Amino acid sequence: MAHDSMRASRSGRSGIGVSFEFFPPKNAEMEAQLWEAVTRLAPLAPNFVSVTYGAGGSTRERTHATVSRIVKETSLKPAAHLTCVAATRGEVDDVIRSYWDAGVRHIVALRGDPVGGAGTAYAAHPGGYETSTDLIAGIRRAGDFEVTVSAYPEMHPESASYSAEIDVLKAKIDAGATRAITQFFFDNAHYLRFVERARARGVFIPIRPGIVPVQNFKQTASFAKKTGASVPQWLADRFEGLDDDPATRRLIAAAVAAEQALDLVDRGVTDFHFYTMNKADLVYAVCHLLGLRPRVSAGAQS
Ligand code: FAD
Repeated sequence: MAHDSMRASRSGRSGIGVSFEFFPPKNAEMEAQLWEAVTRLAPLAPNFVSVTYGAGGSTRERTHATVSRIVKETSLKPAAHLTCVAATRGEVDDVIRSYWDAGVRHIVALRGDPVGGAGTAYAAHPGGYETSTDLIAGIRRAGDFEVTVSAYPEMHPESASYSAEIDVLKAKIDAGATRAITQFFFDNAHYLRFVERARARGVFIPIRPGIVPVQNFKQTASFAKKTGASVPQWLADRFEGLDDDPATRRLIAAAVAAEQALDLVDRGVTDFHFYTMNKADLVYAVCHLLGLRPRVSAGAQS
């Protein structure tokens, strides 16, 4: 009985908010895949959809083109990711202005990874924004943008301590950030502990958990290593022996992500950010389990 009533409370649509992250496509085939994902997920009426900015600013034009297409062809609210890497302040300010001119009012402001890749030493570009905090201030000076930032429940690999991690988040809020999205994690205890410690230190902005449905375990595990996210043995065990069985892998991936999200719902979490990898199916299934249903009026117009 208790189980049934818990399920009933989990399946209600009310109160669950989602956002979806996409990356800018490199070619026509990837563009079609992205757009298929956007079109499938749009009717779930996300609070916003975000588009990443390639390492080293490598996708400046493509991110802009993707975000602009979302503005023009859908009723979705896009958020453009932006980093400080490999650009002067003037160049970054031009990007910010071009977003404003395109009707974009939400930026995910990041420092970005070192030019040499995650794990190498970070050096600010000469004449560039030095930190994410600087960038946030620059964005806020440029216009009345909503600014979302990153947060790291298991600490950013370059952070000296957990306490320093929260200090940085506080500094980002002081500079004008109003929401954080976390790096992905698989053990909810990391997220819950981070939020508790942040709240205890006076951080009251929403800290939206970033959920990554595991499309490919090996790739996810290797990416996790670079970002400082831990991969529990139980997760490896669940994907064990499935390297040549993509159909079962997908079922497991949906089950794992749904289990994680539903556990967070049981702990009072209402908003989720999904790293979609430009694929809709797993995310759609998890959202369905969270109680989301398509809304006819929402979404892509073409
Ligand atoms: P920051 O919060 O800026 O922190 C980076 C490091 O610097 C930390 O160790 C922090 O403690 C330290 N630090 C920051 N400020 C100070 C200070 N004032 N004094 C001392 N130390 C300081 N990367 C991309 O290239 N493109 C993307 O689109 C992208 N999107 C992302 C979205 C999310 C939700 C997340 C979680 C990450 C994303 N990243 C992206 C990755 C991110 O760029 C890297 O993790 C990068 O190494 C850190 O940038 P940041 O803004 O997340 O970190």
